[in-house]
Amino acid sequence: MRAKKKYGQNFLNDLEFINKIIMAIKPKKDDSVLEIGPGLGAITIPMLKHTKHITAIEIDQDMIDQLMKKIPNEKITIYNEDFLKSDALQFNAYTHIIGNLPYYISSAILMKIAKLPDCNAELHFMLQKEVAERITANISTKAYGRLSVILQYFYRTEYLFEIPAQSFTPAPKITSAFVRLTRKPRIELLAKNIDTLEKVIKTAFQQKRKTLKNNFKGILVEKDFLNLNISSNLRAESISVSDFIKIENYFYKEKLFF
Ligand code: SAM
Repeated sequence: MRAKKKYGQNFLNDLEFINKIIMAIKPKKDDSVLEIGPGLGAITIPMLKHTKHITAIEIDQDMIDQLMKKIPNEKITIYNEDFLKSDALQFNAYTHIIGNLPYYISSAILMKIAKLPDCNAELHFMLQKEVAERITANISTKAYGRLSVILQYFYRTEYLFEIPAQSFTPAPKITSAFVRLTRKPRIELLAKNIDTLEKVIKTAFQQKRKTLKNNFKGILVEKDFLNLNISSNLRAESISVSDFIKIENYFYKEKLFF
């Protein structure tokens, strides 16, 4: 079957890495697993040796037709939908969400899942290496940016291992990396409003080389930074997730708007 570029189809073909992925997920018999983009089943089929049933969402009906020939009906439920548009799934039902994600929409998929209020599933995803590095980046590093802060607000993030391009058919032009994201307990998710938190992060990183004072010009004045006990001369790259929460809470308390 020809891979469709428009759907980001690069199929895993390397047993060594498939095994590594399964070992990292550590599936158990009664886990409730959702897979995004099962394709021809490179991860789905070995996962089903450990877990009783998988729910999957796949945009390409041709993939589904192939997959249904390989997997008994009672072991899989597949929705033929675009994950980004789908609201058919009961997200709070899953203990695990997994996938070798189509790279062209991987950040959008992560953001959709992160913002689901009742989805506490552990996430295991294959991503473009650069995206994986951003998601797991430490403060004050080159990769630390908007995606790092917003996802590390919701999750503890782990960079597990890299997978070379030749482990896929067709081989993409990029290296991939496998990550784990574990939802933080509700008690740590202290932003009053996620949209405001996102705006604060976006504004702070608007021009990465500029200071907070410059990026928040016309929104926050020096007195606000003093109240926050955060230096206005810092750049967003040296602001921790908890300081971003502090700024967001301050917007709420002071009834500030963008
Ligand atoms: N899991 C398979 C593997 O590892 O070999 C396929 C991975 S391939 C990188 C991405 C898969 O996601 C493809 O099967 C593709 O058709 C599917 N896909 C692409 N866009 C999608 C979307 N918006 N919603 C659901 N599935 C999508």
